[in-house]
Amino acid sequence: MIDVATALELVRANYPAPQAVLLAAEAAHGCVLAEDVPAREDSPRFDNSAMDGWCVRWDDVAVLVDDPGEDSAPESVALRQVGESRAGTPYEGRSAADTAVRISTGAPTPAGYDTVIPQEDCRAEGEVVYVLRVRKRGANIRLRGEEFTAGVELLRRGVTINAARIGVLTGQGHALTAAFRRLRAAIIITGSELRPHWQAGALPPGALRDSNGPMLRALVTEASGETVKQFLAGDTMEEHAAALDEALGAGVDLILFSGGVSVGPHDLVRSCAAAAGFETIFWRVDQKPGKPLLFARRGSTLLFGLPGNPVSAHVCFSVYVRPLLLHAAGKALPAARSFPVLQDLHNPGRRAVFMRVAQREINGLVGVEALRQQGSHMLSGVSEATGIVLLPAGARITEGELVEVIPV
Ligand code: AMP
Ligand code: MG
Repeated sequence: MIDVATALELVRANYPAPQAVLLAAEAAHGCVLAEDVPAREDSPRFDNSAMDGWCVRWDDVAVLVDDPGEDSAPESVALRQVGESRAGTPYEGRSAADTAVRISTGAPTPAGYDTVIPQEDCRAEGEVVYVLRVRKRGANIRLRGEEFTAGVELLRRGVTINAARIGVLTGQGHALTAAFRRLRAAIIITGSELRPHWQAGALPPGALRDSNGPMLRALVTEASGETVKQFLAGDTMEEHAAALDEALGAGVDLILFSGGVSVGPHDLVRSCAAAAGFETIFWRVDQKPGKPLLFARRGSTLLFGLPGNPVSAHVCFSVYVRPLLLHAAGKALPAARSFPVLQDLHNPGRRAVFMRVAQREINGLVGVEALRQQGSHMLSGVSEATGIVLLPAGARITEGELVEVIPV
């Protein structure tokens, strides 16, 4: 049996290096950009209108500008509408004095016209447009390149591709993006007592719903991985081996077994993995929960045998698997933060304990306290937890002392 620090070190030594691949921009959602991305084109690409209205020549309407001390300004200026510029269909005609071009938001401003008068400031009668109010030359026109010009750096390597960045990439014609790929995982849930969670009707005596499968799948997604295969295997060598073979055939990077990794007569994951050529890196860690954790490798394929108890599976994933997936995705680990404990924490046992804690605020002091449900079968304790605190064997932490909290 090894201790937690050694186990973490062995997992770290086997982190897969982030691998840049070309992905469709849409498919790269949530991935980390692996290259700097320059602007291909000016933005906006052409001068265009910011309003629905009429595009005019400022010199034709400048007479409407209020001149304090003079009341010679007319009430309106009449212009002749000579055409229209619509989004996607520019006005191609020539400009002429005392004319206006109907224009829509986003439509190109026609050559020779320099100002847009919003619809609300005009009155149209047939082909005649009466301009009632004006602001200044160039009003309501978005200029080509005012946001950025071709060649400037738009997005930097290392940023996570969120929805807005997908918009920026695709708006610039970057259909493909170099991003760090998600690790491909297979989840093999073991246990003859387990039924799919969606199975209708009452469960037979002794049966349980598989909650680890859906939970681990969600954890993989949250950690920037991708589950490409998922199995529910009974406690026989044949079912274990068939699932493992299919997972290996799919070329996954990571295999997550759940259950069957302890020392009982029906715990077959270790022998199944060994028979398939996996070498054990470690089995059993001096920790609670999750003592029977298995970590093995075959070539570039990594395998974790997570204990079946839902809390153990979650905690082992959070502590050992999540950092590995995030690393491979090119992402920084969420930093562990320190908080004062709001009540004494004590680990009277001889194994290190990953205690589930929740953040609370008491009289303006933000701290953490242990959740009541600490049993490794009590998943509700994890669902309420904001973090995990590693308490070494025998540790006693008194109220107000700082502890490092691993976010879950
Ligand atoms: P094992 O590690 O296979 O001995 O499983 C330990 C216990 O965890 C089992 O007896 C079940 O009560 C529970 N368990 C195992 N696998 C799952 C699962 N996929 N979903 C929910 N509970 C499970
Ligand atoms: Mg089992």
